[in-house]
Amino acid sequence: MKKEVLETLKHNKGRFISGEELSNRLGVTRTAVWKHIHQLKEEGYRIESVSKKGYKLLEEPDILNENALQLDLDTKIIGKRIIHLNTIDSTNTMAKKIAAEDGEEGTIVIAEEQTEGRGRLGRKWVSPKGTGIWMSLILKPSIEPTEAAKITQIAAAAVALAIRKVTGCEAGIKWPNDIILERKKVCGILTEMSAELNCVNYVIVGIGINVNGDMEAFPEDIKKTATSVKASAGKTVSRKAIVLYILREFERLYLDFIQSKSLQKSVEICKKYSVTLGNPVKIINRDRQIVAEAVDLTEEGELVIRNQKGELEKIISGEVSVRGISDYV
Ligand code: ADP
Repeated sequence: MKKEVLETLKHNKGRFISGEELSNRLGVTRTAVWKHIHQLKEEGYRIESVSKKGYKLLEEPDILNENALQLDLDTKIIGKRIIHLNTIDSTNTMAKKIAAEDGEEGTIVIAEEQTEGRGRLGRKWVSPKGTGIWMSLILKPSIEPTEAAKITQIAAAAVALAIRKVTGCEAGIKWPNDIILERKKVCGILTEMSAELNCVNYVIVGIGINVNGDMEAFPEDIKKTATSVKASAGKTVSRKAIVLYILREFERLYLDFIQSKSLQKSVEICKKYSVTLGNPVKIINRDRQIVAEAVDLTEEGELVIRNQKGELEKIISGEVSVRGISDYV
């Protein structure tokens, strides 16, 4: 019911709507209306209450809970259920548990803070409270396990588009899983999977974005290579607007991938905004380090490099460091 109260206030934003009208429209008592308004205020909604006039929504807080997001979300599956938490060890870990217990495709876990946020290979992802987007998407695609890594490219395309659209900042994609602003990492994507030999049980796509974080407060080593959306945009940015855009774009590209069995639409975006292509790169794969030039992405989303002998090679995964990007080693 709180959702309906909020919805009605939003439709009448900036105008008063009386307690009586709200209670008639929604079929609840005026006391119930008052209680929901009180809860919304506690969540950070600025609502003016004037006796005889009623309630007026002045400002919405930048919160990422189910009520706030779903009222503005027009996706079919992604975000159908949103689990929003104040604090969690890792949204990917929680998403895995939910997925294993029959969690539906499209369910999302979002936290205000992660105490043990993870990157690839057991590395840490710093996720301070209230300033970023720390979220994981649960997917259950009918694809071969070997196809699952492609979903990282879909997420990268969706995040780059979202940051560009919401802020006008020129977000770039560092193949395969980082989003870059002004040569520094603003977002990391961690895709994890549970699969049998030839069937996927679930895929979890973890997306961590530094939105309004104070980069000065980050650990010294990360400060050198990391940035926030706010630092580039020069102002505080709505996390909600970015989340909504990501979910919409992700759904569009993901459904296209599943239906057409082609990654082409996402690859086009990843190519267009790539900060990798055309640059010297170092690739670390197990014990081997290759120095090469990144030349292309295939239709399957693999990186094509020209090695030092002038031969073309396809890279499916690995640690890539790109000359010109701040974490170049
Ligand atoms: P990569 O994809 O760049 O190889 P990962 O996806 O494994 O890296 O991310 C983990 C690494 O990212 C950490 O080792 C750390 O250097 C860096 N990092 C950790 N937290 C953040 C953050 N909030 N923003 C940017 N970079 C971070």
